[in-house]
Amino acid sequence: MRILVIGNGGREHAIIAKLAQSSRISKIFCAPGNAGTALLADNVAIGVSEQEKLAQFAIEQSIDLTVVGPELPLLEGIVDQFEELNLPIFGPQKAAAIIEGSKTFAKDMMQKYNIPTGKYQAFTNSKEALTYVRQEGAPIVIKADGLAAGKGVVVAQTLEEAEKAIIEAMDDKIFGAAGDQVVIEECLIGQEVSLMAFVDGKNVAPMVVSQDHKAVFDGDKGPNTGGMGAYSPVPQIAGEVIQQAIETIIHPMVDAFQQEGIHYKGVLYAGLMITDEGPKVIEFNARFGDPETQVVLPRLKTDLVDVLLAVVEGRLGDLQIEWSDSAAVCVVMTSPGYPGSYPNGLEVTFPHRLNDHTVVIHAGTQEKNGRVITAGGRVLGVTSLGNTLQESQQRAYETVKQIRFEGAHYRKDIASKAIH
Ligand code: AMP
Repeated sequence: MRILVIGNGGREHAIIAKLAQSSRISKIFCAPGNAGTALLADNVAIGVSEQEKLAQFAIEQSIDLTVVGPELPLLEGIVDQFEELNLPIFGPQKAAAIIEGSKTFAKDMMQKYNIPTGKYQAFTNSKEALTYVRQEGAPIVIKADGLAAGKGVVVAQTLEEAEKAIIEAMDDKIFGAAGDQVVIEECLIGQEVSLMAFVDGKNVAPMVVSQDHKAVFDGDKGPNTGGMGAYSPVPQIAGEVIQQAIETIIHPMVDAFQQEGIHYKGVLYAGLMITDEGPKVIEFNARFGDPETQVVLPRLKTDLVDVLLAVVEGRLGDLQIEWSDSAAVCVVMTSPGYPGSYPNGLEVTFPHRLNDHTVVIHAGTQEKNGRVITAGGRVLGVTSLGNTLQESQQRAYETVKQIRFEGAHYRKDIASKAIH
């Protein structure tokens, strides 16, 4: 099989690393890819939003399956376009991806179908939003409605912070049009967990759960990022609670899509808060999580190609998907200054040899004259496997310390919450 993966982040490198283990693959392309995907696939210089060029490439190269990594092309309707041309593609259509593209849409769906989530209200007028937060008080959560690269959410501990977030999003437009509407939400308390599932329109195959680390500094301090690291499994959350989330959140959501006449196929990602009242939805995404994919896919025992094809062809109900008992930890290394502004073009150097249980998954990197340079906020992630989270954590940090670029930053407590 010839596969095209669209995207250039850690998630796409992780998908390609897994696909490369399949005996069914003859060739992998990545558009546009990064310095890591280039080691396993042919990078193609086409951007994720260049739909026509991507479709033309898929036709010319006889691509058997295209896999969409990021949310942007999904929301721009790449799946709809490929399907019109009868090109097999993994990911939801635009009308389904809106579950990630509009927080108001997601919240309204959850309310309509009784899916547990925090109390909320949506606003298009900053005065009304300000009146509402003054009524509700802090802590309270302010979310820009549209896509904001994981940075459009402020968990305000004080009323002043909440007011500032509303004014910045709605009046100062720091997220552009994504902040024309904001959702103001009850602050949920508990442990967070990411639950992803393969969905073929009707059938659901949950993946093993993982936990992301959003805040930039140790101890969950500092501003939120796209994700500083992840681990899987999440032993402090009982299996019954995960089962409850599958039954009260994932299945009802897939049924809700069917009732609305929306065909949802691809990955449905639920960001959950495990509250005293049980699991509640923080957000839905319409694709694999990043960095969650880096710790979940290494634990998949079934051939990923078989899984992706079963999703695309609506045969997920016939497939038994197996997961390993191993533990995975991914530590993300970022450019200095991220999630604020940061320099690009810093040279990255790697140890000559990695230990057998570790992979380096590139995110914001580029190859230049045979060298790897930084080209993004999140530069790379080091993922290690082991029998226990402790063993995986040790292995990951051992390698992180040997990877160098100027001003490199990483959290030193990834997975620690699950280890003590
Ligand atoms: P999101 O982009 O919606 O995943 O939000 C980013 C982060 O903000 C989440 O991972 C949570 O840590 C936090 N967050 C979002 N919504 C809530 C909420 N209702 N209560 C508490 N924390 C939240």
